[in-house]
Amino acid sequence: MCGLLIDVDHLLADPIYEPNRCSIGFHPLHTAIPIALYGLLLFHPKTRLVGIGLTIHILLDISDCYI
Ligand SMILES: [Zn+2]
Repeated sequence: MCGLLIDVDHLLADPIYEPNRCSIGFHPLHTAIPIALYGLLLFHPKTRLVGIGLTIHILLDISDCYI
C-alpha cells in the first residue's frame, strides 16, 4: 500500500523503532497538518486509495499511543 511510504519518516527517527513511543506528533509526516491533508485526499476519487492507505497508517500509529 502507498500509505506505507510515509514510514520512511520513521527511518529518520532515532532509534528507528521504539515500541512504546507514540509516532503521532513525533515524526514530521505524523503531525496535524499532514494528517489533515490525508483526510482531504479521501474526498478526491483519484487520491482516495492513497488517502485510505495513509489514514489507516495514521490510525495504526495512533493505536500505538493508547496500547
Ligand atoms: Zn507511521
